[in-house]
Amino acid sequence: MQHERSQTADPQAVVSALRAGFGTGLSRPVAWRIRQLKALRRMLIERRTDFERALQDDLGKNATEAWLTEVGFTVNEIDHTLRHLRGWLRPRRRRVPLALQPANARTVFEPRGVVLIIAPWNYPLQLLLTPLVGALASGNVVLAKPSELAPATSSAIARWLPEYLDRRAVQVVEGGVAETTAILEQRFDHVFYTGNAAVGQIVMEAAAKHLTPVTLELGGKSPVYVDDSADITVSARRIAWGKFMNAGQTCVAPDYVLASAAVQARLVPALDAAIREMFGDDPTTSPDFGRIINERNYDRLTALLPEHSAIGGQANREARYIAPTVLPDADPSSAAMSAEIFGPILPLVTVDGAEEAVRFINSRDKPLALYLFSNRRDVRKKFVRETSSGGIVIGAPTMHLSVSQLPFGGVGHSGMGSYHGVHSIEAFSHQKAVLTKPLNPDTLRLVYPPFTKFRDTV
Ligand code: NAD
Repeated sequence: MQHERSQTADPQAVVSALRAGFGTGLSRPVAWRIRQLKALRRMLIERRTDFERALQDDLGKNATEAWLTEVGFTVNEIDHTLRHLRGWLRPRRRRVPLALQPANARTVFEPRGVVLIIAPWNYPLQLLLTPLVGALASGNVVLAKPSELAPATSSAIARWLPEYLDRRAVQVVEGGVAETTAILEQRFDHVFYTGNAAVGQIVMEAAAKHLTPVTLELGGKSPVYVDDSADITVSARRIAWGKFMNAGQTCVAPDYVLASAAVQARLVPALDAAIREMFGDDPTTSPDFGRIINERNYDRLTALLPEHSAIGGQANREARYIAPTVLPDADPSSAAMSAEIFGPILPLVTVDGAEEAVRFINSRDKPLALYLFSNRRDVRKKFVRETSSGGIVIGAPTMHLSVSQLPFGGVGHSGMGSYHGVHSIEAFSHQKAVLTKPLNPDTLRLVYPPFTKFRDTV
């Protein structure tokens, strides 16, 4: 299906209109913010089938999965925000050192102003709207740029957001590299980007020209470590679920598994059974298994496939289908182990234990997520203490994203800054220091010049 892009907008005009809107103070009242969040929620419920159809068109995403990971996911984030927003926004009192008293110190969250949100194609709805929830809840106005690689979802967003939200405060501009480059020339007060690290660099450079702060939600190879103390059947089921959801095109999907040869010998048949349980003997016929976003990514992924795979390996370019694939005892220097896979291919790399696994992980870029399947307390402690990643989950891949109370973001090469729940308020606000010092009594008299009076005391 062809999706027409909304008329190409002049980014300069869009940004100045938004800036003018922000200048009137329209987005500051908490009541306005709550109205916007409720309208966004209404949009997701009333247009649910439109969005689910678009996600099906773009990614072959099953409607239930679309609800769990995109539409409903965003509704949950809105509900959590609506429940807590007034509390989060309350000024936070700070202690004043005795020598500076009497005085009253507090911090207040101040909206940053005009925010740019750039979203990727893999969760094209959720990754645009969840940051939007935080940006609006913080009292900002927003230019939203959906991914051109998910054209049906981009077009549904461009159609419905303006129908439900205050147009003076939220504008959608569709487009690809050329349009985004033109948008990035404008001055924003915050840029929130989700996508690959190479473009993250471009975004940060463009923002630097205006000294604009950025949040970068990037990717990378998220490892899994499984040892022999874990229940292998359940571990395999959960790894398969996290990996093959959205056909592996999830930023926090398990990218590869580290395990001993003995654990792999049990894990491979367990993964095979889990894949059959979830997608049947022939995943091409499963309504629950997605497709690769486009041919470029299909070609990139099939180039990673060896001649024979222990599980899967089948592919069909026309259908953009790649079977859930497992590659035991993969060579750490193979192509599959060099860049983020971002597809349904799971290499298993042999290590002889936790020590080697930690060393392996620490020798590479800091991942967005790290997953551990071990019942040993010392191993769990070791991973939490001795590795660095955006987040670490023991026992269930990708689940930390659904806990709005936890900050979600990367570290090092997997990104900077975090969001979700109150962390979105922190990301999209300036925390302003407010100090009130009474004029009387004039306790500052002690520090005024002339300083001769200190000669004997300092
Ligand atoms: P993408 O190709 O859709 O690009 C992301 C956005 O950047 C799009 O809106 C696109 O229009 C824009 N863009 C692309 N090239 C540009 C350029 N040269 N200049 C300016 N803008 C440009 O998505 P992608 O990058 O392929 O997304 C996949 C990557 O994103 C993976 O690495 C994945 O791990 C990561 N990711 C991270 C998260 C997270 O939350 N941390 C979530 C999803 C995806």
